Amino acid sequence: MDSAGAAPKTVAVATLKYLQGYPQDTLDQVSAMLDAGRLGDWLLQKYPQSHGVRTDRALYDYVQALKQEYLRSADALSKVAFDNKLHVVQNALGTHTTISRVQGNKLKAKREIRIASLFKETPAPFLSMIAVQELAHLRERNHDKAFYQLYTHMEPQYHQLEFEVRVYLTHLDAKGKKLWAPAECAAPEASKPSTAL
Ligand SMILES: [Zn+2]
Repeated sequence: MDSAGAAPKTVAVATLKYLQGYPQDTLDQVSAMLDAGRLGDWLLQKYPQSHGVRTDRALYDYVQALKQEYLRSADALSKVAFDNKLHVVQNALGTHTTISRVQGNKLKAKREIRIASLFKETPAPFLSMIAVQELAHLRERNHDKAFYQLYTHMEPQYHQLEFEVRVYLTHLDAKGKKLWAPAECAAPEASKPSTAL
């Protein structure tokens, strides 16, 4: 006898913590692909290649170029960096901070953008999506309507991209391999260039 209310897929749902809030049929599809071990292939098929932004210096230039394109007049960036300490669950999509520091008797705001190191090895659209989000926060601090208007203007595909990033996080969370790690033996990053000021 088939009960209409089949047992909820608690196990599968538990592994989809990065996708909470998405419609159930989407979650079911992702679950099915995850169970079949096909999530990674799905992403790789869409995005065969990683971007080439490997260092903080390159990231600064990359973000700065986006800023010139969309937010020329926003506050200057004092620092842009990959951050391997960002907690991927809490800050899956990076952080954007204005650090107020007291210098002498002046309060000085420093605009810093930190992007989770995860994004060092992702397709270009993923990095673009996160960089643009953090840039949009230079102007609109909160995730409110004005923020999303600006963000959508700068990155019309962000909904889809954010979903795909979350799918990738889900893939990794399920012990999937990193999909875009450099193939060649990566040189240790001993000589990190200092971040631009
Ligand atoms: Zn944000």
